[in-house]
Amino acid sequence: MPDTPPRQAPQSAADTATPVTLPLPFPTASGFAELGPQFFTRLHPTPLPSPYLVSVAPAAAALLGWDASVGSQPDFIDTFIGNQVPDWADPLATVYSGHQFGVWAGQLGDGRAIRLAQAQTDTGPWEIQLKGAGLTPYSRMADGRAVLRSSIREYLCSEAMAALGVPTTRALSIMGSDAPVRRETIETAAVVTRLSPTFIRFGHFEHFAAHDDVAALRKLADFVIDNFMPACRDDSQPYQALLREVSLRTADLIAHWQAVGFCHGVMNTDNMSILGLTIDYGPFGFLDAFDANHICNHSDTQGRYAYSQQPQVAFWNLHCLAQALLPLWLPPEQTDQEGARDAAVEAARAALDPFRERYAAAFFRHYRAKLGLRPPAGGDDKADEPLLTSLFQLLHGQRVDYTLFWRKLCGISSTDASRDAPVRDLFLDRAAFDAWVADYRVRLRAEQSHDAVRELEMLAVNPKYVLRNHLAETAIRRAREDKDFSEVDRLLAVLSRPFDEQPEAEHYAALPPDWAAGLEVSCSS
Ligand code: AMP
Ligand code: MG
Repeated sequence: MPDTPPRQAPQSAADTATPVTLPLPFPTASGFAELGPQFFTRLHPTPLPSPYLVSVAPAAAALLGWDASVGSQPDFIDTFIGNQVPDWADPLATVYSGHQFGVWAGQLGDGRAIRLAQAQTDTGPWEIQLKGAGLTPYSRMADGRAVLRSSIREYLCSEAMAALGVPTTRALSIMGSDAPVRRETIETAAVVTRLSPTFIRFGHFEHFAAHDDVAALRKLADFVIDNFMPACRDDSQPYQALLREVSLRTADLIAHWQAVGFCHGVMNTDNMSILGLTIDYGPFGFLDAFDANHICNHSDTQGRYAYSQQPQVAFWNLHCLAQALLPLWLPPEQTDQEGARDAAVEAARAALDPFRERYAAAFFRHYRAKLGLRPPAGGDDKADEPLLTSLFQLLHGQRVDYTLFWRKLCGISSTDASRDAPVRDLFLDRAAFDAWVADYRVRLRAEQSHDAVRELEMLAVNPKYVLRNHLAETAIRRAREDKDFSEVDRLLAVLSRPFDEQPEAEHYAALPPDWAAGLEVSCSS
């Protein structure tokens, strides 16, 4: 529970100016607010001076029934920077806790995010949240703000991941302000409007477990089940079914991350969505040259969240969630009874266990699709392991560009090695590639793979365009130095069709330039 008194930020234009007219074309529901005040603090965003529109994402706007022109509606900027609170809003910040870098961090919470409302749309419920909207009772020592740099990264990547088909929170818009924000240097403020069916994290459960508040824990679990996972209710043990469902969704999510070469960078339990969505884009990165142990977060000195570690870390985080949920099937008065405790722990383990199998199945499914292969006879995934293991060794040893490799592999012939050049030229050690591709061809021919059909199928799962760090960096530099946001919009448009050939955007698919090697992305946001 938050013991900090609710902090009422000054209410801006809403107090004084004409009523807000920007309509939400759908009704709102109380959503998270129905849980009660123990779970959040009602407060208004803190206004920012001279706000301006940076970008609106058409695909995210469509989720709320708007087209991209909504950005030019009179109240849009003031509403989505938090300077006026529309009549459909019920703004609040939620409390959660969590494990950060493997250590219990205690209470955290929405330190700079404020939920405006939950819209009930044709595309489902969407919580509308402003990130960077000012101080909340959970801001701790920080300033409640987000800078333009990290906001552009979160905005672009949310929409890029959605277009890649990876489960994710969405981003509707970015607003900027010239208000200075201190990070390593002085930067300026921005607010990203995020959309998600819910922003509930593992950490919300950990919070109430840490306070031994089983009633609140149950309320939260019931809320998630009733709103998002109703099938769990039919299980004889709904809360164990919830844990199993979250384990399965998380397994699917991480397998998808690995397949697209996405590193999250800060997989703390407070950054793990209960719905299995990618959430809280900070020091993330897509693999350029393949390094299985790539660490995208400069602040992660131990490599806890390295690319290769993501599946294990997700499983570790699920154990934290299991620990938090345990009181729901082990009443506190029984915790000292060895037999009851063992049985409850066993039940938790049984709910977590399917993670491994599901992850492996999703992993092989993704990589088989990337290779254009049919499932092996008898459905035994293990049969694909040698081909994949040798490929990863090859890519790692040669530091081959991950995205380019897969895209160029789509055009390979199952019979004609003379057409290998586009992909073969990515390797310094051509002989090593030749050895691997010979095995791959054997497999293709064994299943009588049809080159033209396979190529089309592979092009639909191996993206041409991903948000490489240097692409985001170019957009950020123009935005910061010249207030020129056209590159943000251009990138957004390219990344919203990641599998399509876009001849005018060929350079966005190229190898990173030399200067990109010096880019460092840290937790500072
Ligand atoms: P993150 O590492 O971004 O997931 O944030 C971890 C915790 O710190 C969350 O509770 C955030 O809300 C909070 N936080 C991060 N940056 C700020 C900030 N500038 N102001 C207030 N809270 C913040
Ligand atoms: Mg976070």
